[in-house]
This record gives sequence, C-alpha cells and structure tokens, in this order.
Amino acid sequence: MSDPLPTGGDRLALAFARTHDILHPDPLAKAGSQTMRNRPDTEDIADHGAAKESLPAACGCVVDGEGRVVEVDGGEAGSGSSSRRITDLVPALDAAAFAGLRAAVDAAPACVLRIDIPSPGGSVIALRLSRIDAPASRYRVDVEQADSRAGYRERLEQRLAFERLIAALSTELIHAPSERLDGLIEQALGRIGREFAVDRAYLFRFSADRRTQSNTHEWVEEGITREAEHLQDVPMTHFPWLMEEMLAGRAVHVPVVTALPDVAATERGEFIREGIRSLVLVPFGSADRMEGFIGFDSVRRERHWAPDILLGLQLVGQMFFNAFRAQEMAERLTRLAFHDPLTGMGNRRFLGERLSDALERSQREQLKLAVILIDLDDFKLVNDSYGHSLGDDILKTAASRLSATVRVPDTVARLGGDEFVVVAEVAGIDAVSHLVERLFEAMLEPVQLRGVTFALRMSVGIALFPDDGATAETLLRQADTAMYAAKVEGKNRSAFFTPGMTRDSRAALRLRHDLRLAIERDEITPWYQPRVALPSRQVIGFEALARWNHPRRGLLLPSNFLDLAQRSGVIGRIDLCILAHALSDLAGWRQHHPDCRISVNLDAADLQDEALIERLQQMLTSAGDAAEGIEIEITESSLMRDIDQASAMLTRLRRAAPALKVAIDDFGSGYSSLAYLGRLPVTTLKIDRGFTAELGRDSPAGGNRRSARAIIHSIIDLGRSLGLHVVAEGVETAAQAEELCELGCLEAQGFLFSAAVPPATAAKLLDHGTSAVDP
Ligand code: C2E
Ligand code: CA
Ligand code: CA
Repeated sequence: MSDPLPTGGDRLALAFARTHDILHPDPLAKAGSQTMRNRPDTEDIADHGAAKESLPAACGCVVDGEGRVVEVDGGEAGSGSSSRRITDLVPALDAAAFAGLRAAVDAAPACVLRIDIPSPGGSVIALRLSRIDAPASRYRVDVEQADSRAGYRERLEQRLAFERLIAALSTELIHAPSERLDGLIEQALGRIGREFAVDRAYLFRFSADRRTQSNTHEWVEEGITREAEHLQDVPMTHFPWLMEEMLAGRAVHVPVVTALPDVAATERGEFIREGIRSLVLVPFGSADRMEGFIGFDSVRRERHWAPDILLGLQLVGQMFFNAFRAQEMAERLTRLAFHDPLTGMGNRRFLGERLSDALERSQREQLKLAVILIDLDDFKLVNDSYGHSLGDDILKTAASRLSATVRVPDTVARLGGDEFVVVAEVAGIDAVSHLVERLFEAMLEPVQLRGVTFALRMSVGIALFPDDGATAETLLRQADTAMYAAKVEGKNRSAFFTPGMTRDSRAALRLRHDLRLAIERDEITPWYQPRVALPSRQVIGFEALARWNHPRRGLLLPSNFLDLAQRSGVIGRIDLCILAHALSDLAGWRQHHPDCRISVNLDAADLQDEALIERLQQMLTSAGDAAEGIEIEITESSLMRDIDQASAMLTRLRRAAPALKVAIDDFGSGYSSLAYLGRLPVTTLKIDRGFTAELGRDSPAGGNRRSARAIIHSIIDLGRSLGLHVVAEGVETAAQAEELCELGCLEAQGFLFSAAVPPATAAKLLDHGTSAVDP
C-alpha cells in the first residue's frame, strides 16, 4: 500500500472538486473517456476496462465514521444503501486501512488525504478522503480507477519529479532577490510546462480594483505564439465565467474545451478561436482576496490533469503569490529606506545610489553631470517663529515644486533639513544655468499657508562632473561649498563651484553664513569689562565687548569672528546690535548709578557708512538720557584712514547726542602725529595695552620700559592739556596699576580688576562699587 499523500490547500482543493462537478455534471458517464488520461498516447485501455468490472472508473460518496455509505453522488446508490460500506464499494480497501485514513483526516481536518491502492487486477485505485464538518463525522470519499501498473509507475515518477520541482522552486523563490523574481517565475513556468508537455504556461495578475487582468509571465513551447503582449489590462468581463471562478478562488480544469457547459459559452468560443484544446487555471492569493492565477494551455492535443498534480499546481501558485508578497514587502522596505517620508522624494541614501549610478554612466558615456545643492534661505527662522508643522508644509511645497521642475531621468532628493539635491545630466554650463533658472522660477510664486504669505528663497551651489570632482562625495562637498558661497554673497542666488573655494575657505564660508544668522538671532551680545578709577578701583563704567554665543561652538571671542564680520560687511550690524544692548542695559543701571558709562566700539568701516551713522543717530536720539552715558571707541588707525570723513561723522553724531563721548582706542600705537587731535571731537584717550604691558616689569628690557613710561607720561600730559580723559588699558598686575597711578593716570581697565563679564555680573560689580579680581 502506498503512503497517504497529504495535500495542502484543501479549500482550493474542494473548490476544485466543485468546479470539476460543473464541468462534468455526470462524472460516471464521462469517466471512461476523460478521467486520468495523463498521457493519452500511452494509455493502457485494457487495464482501464478491467477495472470497470468491480468499480465505476470514478465515483464519489459520503460515509460516516464507521465507513457506512450515507450518500452516493448522483443519488443512484442511495436505495437501500444504508447497509453498504465503503469497504464493499472498494474491496481493495480493508476496514483497518479505512480507520487509519479516517484517523489521519481527523488529525488534519483541513486536508484531503489520498492513497493509491494497488488492486488485484494490476491496476491502481486512487482514493481521496476529506472530512465534511457538518453534519459531524461525515467524510467525503472520491474513488478513481487509476492506471495500469505501468501507467501508474510513470505517473508516480512524474509526480515525484513534480514534487522535486516544487521543493526546488520553493527554496529558489524564497532566496530570490527581488529583481530576479520575474525571471525565476518564467523559468518555473517553463519547467512545469515541459514536464507536463503543455504548449503555453502563464501567469496573470489582477489589477488592484479587480477590473482587469494582465499576463505578466509567459512561457511557450517552440513553435507556439506568445500571447502576453496582447493580454495586458484585459477587462475581467472578457471572460465572465472564468474570472468569477478565479476571483472566488476556484481552480478550473477544462480537459475538453468543446465540452465546456453553456455557462461558459463566452470562454468556450474564445478558447476554440484560439485553438486551445485543454487548459487548467489555478488561482492564487490570500484567503479573502485572489491576486491572479497560473494557467497551462494545450494546443496540440487534449490534456487531462490528474487531481494530485492540480493540487501541486495550486501549491506552485501559492508559492508565486508568497514570493510576490515578499517582493512587495521588500520593495516597501526599500521605499522606506530610500524615501523621505515627509516630502515623498528620495532621501540621502537614495541620492547616494542614484548619484553613483549617474557617475558611472557619465564616465562611460563621457557626459557632463551637474550636482546642484539647494538650501532654502532663512528656513530655520520660519520654523522657529511659525512652528514645525508650518515648516513641514513649506518643505513639502518646495519639494513638490522642485520635483515638478526636474525632468524624469534626473534625480531630486532631500538631503535632510531644508537641503535638497538635484543631479542632472547636462550638455554644458548653459544647460545647467538654464536648469537652475527654472528651479528659481519654480520657487517664485509665494506660498500661502495659514493666512501667512511666504516667499520661497533658496541658495544654490553647483558642482560639475568631471570638472569639479569625480566622486559623489567630492561633488556634493563642492556643491555645498558653492552653496555657502551663494549664501554669503547674500542668499537667493546660485554659485558655481570654483577651485578658489577650498576646504579651508569652506569652514570660513560656513562661519560667515552662521554669522549672518547669528545677527538675525541676536546671538552676538555684549559682555562688559569694568573701567575703574585709580587708585580707588571704584567701577565707573564698562567697555562693551562683543561675545558670540555660537549654538555649536560655544562662546566666541571677537578674534574668532570680527575679521570675518569686517570682510563680509556685517560688522556695522554687529556694532549697532551691541549699542542697542548697551543702551538698554545702561538705562537700567543708571537708575541707581546715574554716572555710569558704557563705551562701545565702532569699526573703521562704520564711519564710511552713511546709513549706519544715520541709524546710530536715531538710536542715540531715541535713547534719551541713557545716550549721555555712551562713549564710542574708534581706533587710532581707523580714524587716520580718512580723517576728514571721520571728523564729519563724529560731529554729526555729537549733534544728535551732545553728551556723546568719543574715545580714541589703542592710542599711541604707531601714529606719532598728534596734530590731528585738535581737529576731532574727542573726549577720551585709551592708552594702548602694549605700553601698559611694559610697565611694572623688572626685566632686562629696561629700555622698553623706560620708553613706555615716557610715552604714557606724555599721553597723560597731552590729555590733561586738551582736557581729555585718559584710560590705561590692559592692566594685569598691581605693580602696573601702581606705576600708572604714579604717572597720574586716573582710569584703568584690565584683568587685574576684571575681565569682561556678562551683563548680570556687571550689574553686581556696579552695585558692589569696586571690581573683584576676576581672572
Ligand atoms: P579693544 O577695544 O582694545 O578691547 C580690549 C580687549 O582687550 C578685549 O579683548 C579685552 O578682553 C582685552 N583685555 C582687557 N583687559 C585685558 C588685560 O588685562 N590683558 C589683556 N591681554 N587683554 C585684556 P576682546 O574682547 O577680545 O576684544 C578684542 C577687540 O575686538 C577689541 O579690542 C575691539 O577692537 C574689538 N571689539 C570688541 N567688541 C567689539 C565691538 O562690539 N565692535 C567692534 N567694532 N569691535 C569690537
Ligand atoms: Ca575698545
Ligand atoms: Ca583698546
């Protein structure tokens, strides 16, 4: 006795049985000609006939748990059948074998079990058993007269080969990379097609709305025409009956196309027209939703598919379906990994892949490639002031406008934040410029969001392959450098990378960019260094010194950014900003210390800037009393650049705020001529700290010290005679303070008394009266 053969997919198997019934309303009558004709050419008719004596070639019945026949298909065996047992009907089956089979089905009620029983006449009987759940303990038995032993062996071999193929397929499909899946499926269809000598094997998938079907995979035997091309988006209504069966998950086996019943008249006509003689279609999908089907056509001869092979085909269909599902899952994951969820465009990883592909192609085909880096201007400002959700909407708008502008073979991706990258194959510089122009145009129209209108501005940096670099990394870096250059140039513009924009200047460019933002965000504020009276050390005022509270780099001193601020022309804005803070701090402090003064530094360039002087004037005027405590410091060197201009400006300022004091900073450092002093509205001289440093030293460099003393002495003298305050800067030791006192200096500044401190500490020092030593 052969092993019971459990077969999966029983729901489909049962459905198949029903379909089979539709096609063969009278299975007993048709059995002789149509059942189990696996290979009609080699069929052993004699054996077939011999088997008929004891048993119809095929029959079905329902039995109870004891094997008593309850109902026979067609009702013919119903009369007086209550005493008949399945073992009577199938003499080759004994009671013990039936009990074993029944137990196996009870243990796996979702399965159809099949055994092949060799019978005395040399033929084989195929018996299938499945459980009918209602009423309980009933079983469906289908019995078929199978082939002769020789035919049976052949069939068994074929089945084993098919099982091996299924096993191989299942591992291949599981391990198939997404992009190889289609090829593998076509191969598999070919292997099955050849194994069973059919002419065409194919796979159809339903559209998402289930209105159409498309032939996605196809294999044809030599000499048979391919159909797939014509079978795309075919309306389901084209094969009404067939598709109803497919969508319901029922397999359809048509051994003889011409015998199709009238319900399937449309299909019958179509198949006959196409010259198909037999076919089998097996749907696949999930329990409640079919996704498609595989099918096998026989054109050259009729072909009958054995039920167990059909079950195997269902397994194959399910395996394809699972592979599709795995592929879709993988694609979804890939989409997630390569896509930016906010804008729906590619992300940094996606860009990396596309850029390296594009580079490879450009290298091969000697094309030019532009890497265009786009950074929205002032986005952070919008984000901070209007909230992130509005910021997100702006990003989405910008993203969709960029996507709409970039042509299909080109790539657009979001790098993160408000940065986007476009990679485009270009003919030359002109084409890039044109593209960039189009990108700017796309941004022109203001964005209306929640009642607020925003202008979308951006800075664009462009690097070209092969001119500016050969790797993705270099090109992105160069584009970034160029983008910063565009920002520094004043934003809302583009810049091509030039070799002058080196790596070092890139850091500077970044700092420059940060510097502009810093001013907008009020990150640069004054710290105050006390100015004390000598010898009492009483705090009489402060010098406001700019400090930049950089978000990443911490507190920065002027030496870190002033140079840059001067070169990028933002120094004036910083000075105004420091003055504004000083005025407001001073207004507070003067309530308790009416004589308190603050000196602020002006850059040489400020004096050339009409608009800035205008603004200074306004600020001083509107500050009222507080302006009286303000002193501006201008270095001797910057005054000397254009002394007439400086003089005119200072005079104007004094007109706006008559009590305004003006100090010459770093006095004595280099310009020996003192003649100009009389021509300037100056109130204070600040002795350069280089001279102070020479004082109080017991060093062999006595000569320096002597000359420093002499200079300081003469400055103090000069001041006294011109009626100017004289302040010594950079006092670090008690000895220096003492010597300055001896020389008649009445005011000083320096680490000995205090370094610059934050405003709150300055206020405390002021209340305290004297400065603490604050290293
Ligand atoms: P400065 O106007 O000569 O300011 C005095 C500098 O000397 C300050 O450096 C101060 O911290 C430092 N200093 C004070 N006491 C001592 C001491 O005892 N020994 C030594 N070695 N140094 C001392 P800081 O704050 O780094 O400022 C450097 C320069 O930056 C300033 O020199 C000034 O020219 C410029 N600056 C500072 N703030 C501003 C500003 O708001 N606008 C402009 N245009 N320039 C500014
Ligand atoms: Ca100063
Ligand atoms: Ca100074």
